[in-house]
Amino acid sequence: MLAIALQSGSNGNCIYVEANGARLLFDAGICGVKAEQRLRSYSREIRKVDALIISHDHADHISYAGVYQRKFGLPIYITQKTLQKAEGYSRLGKLSNVNYFLAGEEIRLGNVFVQTIRTPHDAVDGAAFVICAEGKKLGILTDLGHVFKELVPAVASLDAVFIESNYDPGLLAGGPYPEFLKRRIQGPNGHISNKEAAELLQAGINLKWACLSHLSEKNNNPGLALRTHREILGKSLTFYTASRHRPSGKFTV
Ligand SMILES: [Zn+2]
Ligand SMILES: [Zn+2]
Repeated sequence: MLAIALQSGSNGNCIYVEANGARLLFDAGICGVKAEQRLRSYSREIRKVDALIISHDHADHISYAGVYQRKFGLPIYITQKTLQKAEGYSRLGKLSNVNYFLAGEEIRLGNVFVQTIRTPHDAVDGAAFVICAEGKKLGILTDLGHVFKELVPAVASLDAVFIESNYDPGLLAGGPYPEFLKRRIQGPNGHISNKEAAELLQAGINLKWACLSHLSEKNNNPGLALRTHREILGKSLTFYTASRHRPSGKFTV
């Protein structure tokens, strides 16, 4: 299995995964041109993607789903509630080839299984993902709300993970965000901090790597996020950070 974060953060999310002959895209938060070019830089063709799987209705995850579907012919996998909520967005436009899943249910795509986990994030029907293929498991766990109990056994089962590590509480407290937004981010339906993410990863006894993802621009930075994780988890785990501006590199699982 291989994975590339094409971009990660509140300015747009899109992760490519290839396993067992299936090509999957998770979320459509960067424009079609960028998604196509960034995949092409890894000799991958976006038109050959078998499924576009959407995690939740926030713009940084769903904005360009309609573009990918119409321009590149990608089948969309989404929950009915998420689609209903997002249909008001101007960019989504008319969709065809829509396949519904229920958050919490497993999606089968060829020889790949994608477990979906309902999240308490402040979207209408958010999901996180565990991709199971070739005897390995990869997690895509972002926009989590808080560390809810289903995450612990999920992390314990993983070989590798893209994990939300959104903010540092000190930077958030002293930063420029208005109070209501600070409360939203730290609240039970917002995002998880570097420390919360690191403590969750302590359950990951089989993890080979963790890619710190969905880092805030104002309330975090890659160096600080990595330091916090290494302080809590030591040096045994390999860490990467997913960029808000460029692809992460190609990771194998
Ligand atoms: Zn997001
Ligand atoms: Zn979100």
